[in-house]
Amino acid sequence: MKIVCIGRNYADHAKEMGSEVPTEPVIFMKPDSALLRNNAPFFIPEWSENIHYETELVVKINRLGKNISEKFAHKYYDEIGLGVDFTARDIQQKLKEKGLPWERAKAFDGSAVIGEYFINKAEFHDLSNIDFRLEINGEEKQHGNTKDMLSNIDKLIAEVSKYFTLKIGDLIYTGTPVGVGPVKINDELKGYIENQCLFNFKVK
Ligand code: ZN
Repeated sequence: MKIVCIGRNYADHAKEMGSEVPTEPVIFMKPDSALLRNNAPFFIPEWSENIHYETELVVKINRLGKNISEKFAHKYYDEIGLGVDFTARDIQQKLKEKGLPWERAKAFDGSAVIGEYFINKAEFHDLSNIDFRLEINGEEKQHGNTKDMLSNIDKLIAEVSKYFTLKIGDLIYTGTPVGVGPVKINDELKGYIENQCLFNFKVK
């Protein structure tokens, strides 16, 4: 399986990063070795001084598709989960300055946290109004809603599948809302979609 990630899909987050609000989604990938499941602890790598959390809704692809039209994109996923796109911000900054690829900063082991379970999309009233949030040590740090996405899930599936064949089990991390920040050892991260807790793990 592969992990496709979307960057700058919320205008307020693009602004907090000092980036332009893009006219088309930023796309990058992580390898399957980046996955961190089952609330396993996240270990801060020794080569970064500034690891940031980015809480994101995650779409799980349920059928094979290429060049999927936006109109039919809803048929390619049933479930939505929650994850963290951990980012070594110091390394990313250096790579950006040199115009180099982001993999060292974005695709390292443990950088793709995925919640324990997914929620069937039929359980949501309105897919364009899904609320999600991150708490660290009991304090709310990020609060997002799909209504603020620059490209909605269907648009993302259409865009990504122009370039990459989507396969069963592939995950699309749909971008982070405003409020990213650093983690430190002993932090406890809890992620919620609406009122359901999907992940709860510690930083070590
Ligand atoms: Zn992200």
